Amino acid sequence: MLKSIFDTVTLNDGSSMPGFGYGCYKSFGHDLARGLREAVECGYRYIDTAEFYDNEETVGEVLHSCHVPREQLYVVSKIWPTNFADPVASLEQSLRRLRLDFLDAYLLHWPGVSCERRLFAYDQLLREQQKGKIRVLGVSNFLMPHLDELYQIMGVRPALNQVEIQPCFSQPELREYCAQRAIRVISWGPLGRGKTIESPVVKALANARGKTPAQMILRWHIEKGLTAIPKSVHVERVRENCQVFDFSLTEAEMAVLDDLNSTAHTGRSSPNDPMTFAG
Ligand code: NAD
Repeated sequence: MLKSIFDTVTLNDGSSMPGFGYGCYKSFGHDLARGLREAVECGYRYIDTAEFYDNEETVGEVLHSCHVPREQLYVVSKIWPTNFADPVASLEQSLRRLRLDFLDAYLLHWPGVSCERRLFAYDQLLREQQKGKIRVLGVSNFLMPHLDELYQIMGVRPALNQVEIQPCFSQPELREYCAQRAIRVISWGPLGRGKTIESPVVKALANARGKTPAQMILRWHIEKGLTAIPKSVHVERVRENCQVFDFSLTEAEMAVLDDLNSTAHTGRSSPNDPMTFAG
């Protein structure tokens, strides 16, 4: 169990990464710079971006000027499925924008609809990994059939799979599948994109504990062994979201949050289904 924001977890390739991170989706310019500077100041070391977010330049600028040594940062970017035909161009562009020589992890952002194209991209990126431009090659929004396919055709179990997970959409089967194969799951939308913190159930639990709803949910991710990457550009929230290492949830509290999955019907916040989303 993570004890501090600086704790790392070991991946199935033997490498390690921070167990908690900072999400950069839909953050731009001064807002992003302010939020990210505060995040780094608070100790967030895993920074999550993507070519699709159109903010890698700002992320690069802030990280370049933040005085945290490169080897202590863990920078993750992603390739969008419509670019799978030329993954090296996407990777080079992300590196240039981020002002980095290598990415700590690079993920296929969505599987897309073509097995041939995603496997082509994965194979090409394995070569870039061998050249040292990517430390860990992983995936995002891959469901069990996509992961089975990657294993059956290429013999690969990726170290990372970043998927939508939060109490109202907790994907227990996928989590179990990944746990059995030592694939580390990163929870995107860990707060239900701001929606789940508004749940009266979560608010009541939080009030009873003297914590905020966001803290209760982020602690739920930690106790589940998930890497959460909450996003906020507000400095107070950035701080609040990482004050989750000094308390535990009781079994009863975990059960109440777990139960949101069955009562919410679909807590999915993305309209995109990984089985059909072309990008
Ligand atoms: P999130 O669940 O982190 O929610 C973010 C929203 O919650 C913020 O916009 C803010 O409104 C609110 N919020 C945050 N902290 C709060 C607090 N303490 N109190 C009150 N409100 C608070 O949603 P997200 O940004 O979509 O997901 C997190 C990260 O996951 C992204 O920034 C991105 O890096 C990644 N992501 C990846 C994918 C993917 O397909 N791989 C998709 C979406 C997001």
